[in-house]
Amino acid sequence: MAMETLAQSPNARICKTVLEKYMRLPQPDNKVQATYIWIDGTGENLRAKDRTLPSLPKSIKDYPIWNYDGSSTYQSEGHNSDLYLHPVAVYKDPFRPGAENVLVLCDTYKPNKEPTESNKRYKCLEAMERAAAHKPWFGIEQEYTLLDTDLHPFGWPKNGFPGPQGPYYCGVGANKVYARELVEAHYRACLYAGIDIAGTNAEVMPAQWEFQVGPGEGMKCADDLWVARYILHRISEEYGIVVTLDPKPMPGNWNGAGAHCNFSTLEMREENGIIEIEKAIDKLSKQHLRHIQAYDPKGGKDNERRLTGAHETSSIHNFSAGVANRGASIRIPREVAERKQGYLEDRRPSSNCDPYAVCEALVRTCVLNE
Ligand code: ADP
Ligand code: MN
Ligand code: MN
Ligand code: MN
Ligand code: MN
Repeated sequence: MAMETLAQSPNARICKTVLEKYMRLPQPDNKVQATYIWIDGTGENLRAKDRTLPSLPKSIKDYPIWNYDGSSTYQSEGHNSDLYLHPVAVYKDPFRPGAENVLVLCDTYKPNKEPTESNKRYKCLEAMERAAAHKPWFGIEQEYTLLDTDLHPFGWPKNGFPGPQGPYYCGVGANKVYARELVEAHYRACLYAGIDIAGTNAEVMPAQWEFQVGPGEGMKCADDLWVARYILHRISEEYGIVVTLDPKPMPGNWNGAGAHCNFSTLEMREENGIIEIEKAIDKLSKQHLRHIQAYDPKGGKDNERRLTGAHETSSIHNFSAGVANRGASIRIPREVAERKQGYLEDRRPSSNCDPYAVCEALVRTCVLNE
């Protein structure tokens, strides 16, 4: 079975040790390799291209602005195709270790200097700057599903289905989890890069996994999550495994995939912060539609397939909240209810959400009262 899979994937078939020989070649001191990463017009997929810099820039402001062909990324027409990459955050490059090489996360701008339609970071940053005194923290749980190159879940029987859900969540053993190696590689690569990855676990549906990023203040969690997704897709190339962030990759009696967003302000984290948490939940209850529209890249369409009210979700049509309730829109973790301070968990964001849109909506509703 495994051999068959390898033979089908052109990327997995390439010998992985040949590259090591070249990666050991000394890198000139005055040459830094930089991978510029950005979100394309789907609002969901990532693009990247590389350049050589003469030295490691001292701060993010010193990285050169770069351009790209927006007509090939669903972001502009061919007759006026140049768009701009503005560096916003830098990470160590786990794919080129041993020298000071970097991953450079960018947001995207049109020639008239306006942000592109898929640049949700611009408005998120504006909201975070206005809310900065409340020190908003975010922690996002990214669920994702591994697929074989035939787009069938990785490790599932080619004809039929694995046994029903039950043994797979946080599972251990060859018949319970698939491609742990990829998960391990991703975890360590994220730590090396400088991402605040908080943990990882196997999920309820076989071939589904989760990692958590945060808690991070302001823009840090969303920036980290986008780069963690980039690293995940890059590693998946090596295994010839496809990563999907689709929120309901398998219809039927299989769990979907979300990106629960854990959120707190300074006031919520302080003694008796539970009162602030309850105030925030009240505000959220009045803005359900705004949040559903912000929580997947298709304005709620993707989440329709996932937020059915079954499989540990709440219905997309209703707002609900509860302590330790995994069938609610908002869950107050039991430990938070007991300590009367901490954070809330918004369970609605889809696995393929743009974390900039999610964090922005939470801050505008709960902190800025918009
Ligand atoms: P779950 O029980 O829902 O599976 P996880 O352990 O997967 O929870 O994720 C919890 C997330 O909450 C982590 O990403 C963590 O960083 C985040 N978190 C913890 N404390 C806070 C806080 N005060 N504010 C925001 N996020 C927090
Ligand atoms: Mn060219
Ligand atoms: Mn979790
Ligand atoms: Mn989960
Ligand atoms: Mn959760």
